[in-house]
Amino acid sequence: MTCPRIEINLNKVSHNAKFLVALYATKNINVIAVMKGVCGDSVIADTLVKSGMTSLADSRISNLHKLRYSGINVPLMLLRVPMLSEAEEVVKSVDISLNSELLTLKVLSKYAVAHNTIHKVILMVELGDLREGIMPHEMIDLVVQVIALEGIKLVGIGTNLACFGGVKPDDNNMGHLSSIANQLEEKFGLQFEFISGGSSANYNWFMFTKEVKRINHLRLGESIYLGCEPLLGKPIPELFTDAFTLIAEVIEVKTKPSLPYGEIGQNAFGNIPVFEDRGSMRRAILGIGIQDVAISGLEPLMDIEILGASSDHLVINTKKISLKVGDEVSFHLNYGALLSAMTSPYVAKEYQASMEYLDVQMTE
Ligand SMILES: *Cc1c(COP(=O)(O)O)cnc(C)c1O
Repeated sequence: MTCPRIEINLNKVSHNAKFLVALYATKNINVIAVMKGVCGDSVIADTLVKSGMTSLADSRISNLHKLRYSGINVPLMLLRVPMLSEAEEVVKSVDISLNSELLTLKVLSKYAVAHNTIHKVILMVELGDLREGIMPHEMIDLVVQVIALEGIKLVGIGTNLACFGGVKPDDNNMGHLSSIANQLEEKFGLQFEFISGGSSANYNWFMFTKEVKRINHLRLGESIYLGCEPLLGKPIPELFTDAFTLIAEVIEVKTKPSLPYGEIGQNAFGNIPVFEDRGSMRRAILGIGIQDVAISGLEPLMDIEILGASSDHLVINTKKISLKVGDEVSFHLNYGALLSAMTSPYVAKEYQASMEYLDVQMTE
């Protein structure tokens, strides 16, 4: 079989999606499936829609474009605040975008009018993580101007945490977002459709909070695909953490020293590598490298040790495992590794599913 490849168990992805939709619904929170971790894969998108995800999101317009033209028929949301250079495409192929800049909103408005459409926007509020977002005290002035823009409909506010500054979603920042929503709705006579509190990182807040207040929307990627919450990396009970498996093939096995010999200079990446002398060891090379996947996010499913990688080679210590040329070695991926492997054109995607299972799940 083709190597390297990523095996995608659609039944497990489907189970995770259904579970999370139902879980968040217990406190009236709607979720949107974030596709960037799987590079906007349309087979996975189709599975997610059949599993109850009523809309899809991505940070890249190219992925949303691909989804739109693959026949996916649910609302699409752009997560990264738009570039001016992509504003026309945003208005044409996306239903909702997250925004934080008046200039960009004005350009979106211009194109929405030109294309005779209404583009929905959510304004992002800065609540401490210091990536995108408007400072809370500047919200009122901005809303005054946004509601006056033709072709633009303000449908809500949102925030993003736990991405840049590592700030945890908690009752404090979620309460703040709720009170900003109340204040804006009252002042401008609006009724927001979305008060979008965050991402997979909101899981622990959600589980332990006494009240979610006005939060009615979350944008979920990692927890659907990897079955864990990102802040502590803990598995979420009842979810599959092994829906994705990366497989690479052995191309050399030899007993060699553990310490490079000869005069040492920089390696292929401009670093001077440091190794410990552990005597001779059984080493194998796998036909996978940095061009295929973020190696640091791989965890072997057998007892071997990753020694390092270059662009096309992964060197391992086989320890007590007897490997031979042609054998396959499997890995669990973290979110960064998943994202890179799904994005790499060198990694084959292999979907595994019993369609009966999906159909049964759908009609339950
Ligand atoms: C990536 C992203 C998400 C999803 O984050 P996960 O940790 O994968 O759930 C949500 N919102 C925004 C703005 C994002 O960029």
